[in-house]
Amino acid sequence: MDTVNNSILQIARYNLQQTADRIALDEAVLNRIADPKETIELRLSPVLKDGRVANMSAFISRHSDILGPAKGGIRMTSSVTMDEVIGLSMEMTWKTSLIGVPFGGGKSGIRYDGTSLSSEDKERVIRSFARSAKRHFGPELYIPAPDMGTNERDMGHIRDCISYSEGTSITKGCFVTGKPIIIGGIPGRRAATGKGVVYTIIAACGKLGIEPQKMSVVIQGFGNVGSEAARELVTQGAKIIAVSDVSGGLLNEQGIDIEELVKYTSQYGSIEGFDRGDPMPKESIFNIPCECLIPAASGSQITTENVGQINAAIIAEGANAPTTPGADDILNNRGIFVIPDILCNAGGVFVSYLEYVQETQHEQMMVEQVENRLYKRMTGTFETVYTYSQSKGMTMRNASMEIALNRVVDGITARGLLP
Ligand code: NAD
Repeated sequence: MDTVNNSILQIARYNLQQTADRIALDEAVLNRIADPKETIELRLSPVLKDGRVANMSAFISRHSDILGPAKGGIRMTSSVTMDEVIGLSMEMTWKTSLIGVPFGGGKSGIRYDGTSLSSEDKERVIRSFARSAKRHFGPELYIPAPDMGTNERDMGHIRDCISYSEGTSITKGCFVTGKPIIIGGIPGRRAATGKGVVYTIIAACGKLGIEPQKMSVVIQGFGNVGSEAARELVTQGAKIIAVSDVSGGLLNEQGIDIEELVKYTSQYGSIEGFDRGDPMPKESIFNIPCECLIPAASGSQITTENVGQINAAIIAEGANAPTTPGADDILNNRGIFVIPDILCNAGGVFVSYLEYVQETQHEQMMVEQVENRLYKRMTGTFETVYTYSQSKGMTMRNASMEIALNRVVDGITARGLLP
């Protein structure tokens, strides 16, 4: 397989094929899950505030509903494609299976640069997507959530759009997670992915004999996942020595003041211009020696071209598919402990499941309950994967994929192959 710049779909297909080969998966079963169960392409034409019509494509992939309704976020970027959405929906199938929630895998994409939109125009685009996609959403079908380029405000508009079209105050069950708390969101959802990333890092430190309080950390991407992971790491006593975002990089060997940087980025939109550290090119982020590196930006960032620069004991994949298979092999040969994406960043979908339960059962959960359950599920799943990987002498990625795929296969067997 080409090892540089592999797409997310190529990586997802490669991971599935490799795992299927290792567990000698029956071909008829493999064929059932090699491709998505359903894909939908939509054309949106929202009218913006100044009267212009913004034409764009949107994509939905329901990869699998073997273990439950499809679950997965809405990615809004200028470059998202159907292939990317399919690859991400496959990864969601393994992630929901591994973390043990009764969901399948799904994903959506809106191909538009939302960063250039005013908040009113973004709302127009999101409502246009919600109107067009509504018949593909539902608590028994597909439940979207935020992903790159979308946030809880957008999920609030989707929720409103659906209940508005029904003429009801609430929806019948949970149609979308990651909503504002005041309209059914769950406390702790925003920080869940980042905190979950850190819980797996702390668990890895325990296995590797690294003291979290003495750990220096480098983070690529300072959005939801990167910034929340940074905050939690600081709480645990670790030092964040470098971060980057799309605008550039920032280095401070003494430790970056994360709370100040969070305030700065929420005011100015990026880390550019933050003066308590030295600016550096964003490409240099993988050159900084550290105990732990967290890629928390986008896919295919660690490639065979730049993997040689990495000097870290742990790589915690906050982003989805940040490492190409060729780079992954090199990291493994070098003995770097990689916490794979489907384990590392599964905290978000786990808390989304709690939001789904809360809304379905008209229950209210306190943040302490949410954080407690998140901690137990992330550390428990880490332990399951670690034990499996040790017993089979394989990497954490291969162990995660085998556990996840075997559960999906068990679901297919339990349902039966007949329609
Ligand atoms: P986000 O849009 O909030 O943040 C993305 C960050 O990455 C931004 O700071 C952006 O500037 C930065 N970035 C983009 N390209 C970059 C580059 N080339 N170099 C450095 N920085 C770059 O997105 P997010 O929600 O934090 O998601 C980040 C990753 O985590 C994605 O891969 C997403 O699929 C994955 N993920 C997110 C969640 C979640 O709950 N938000 C859950 C699971 C996985």
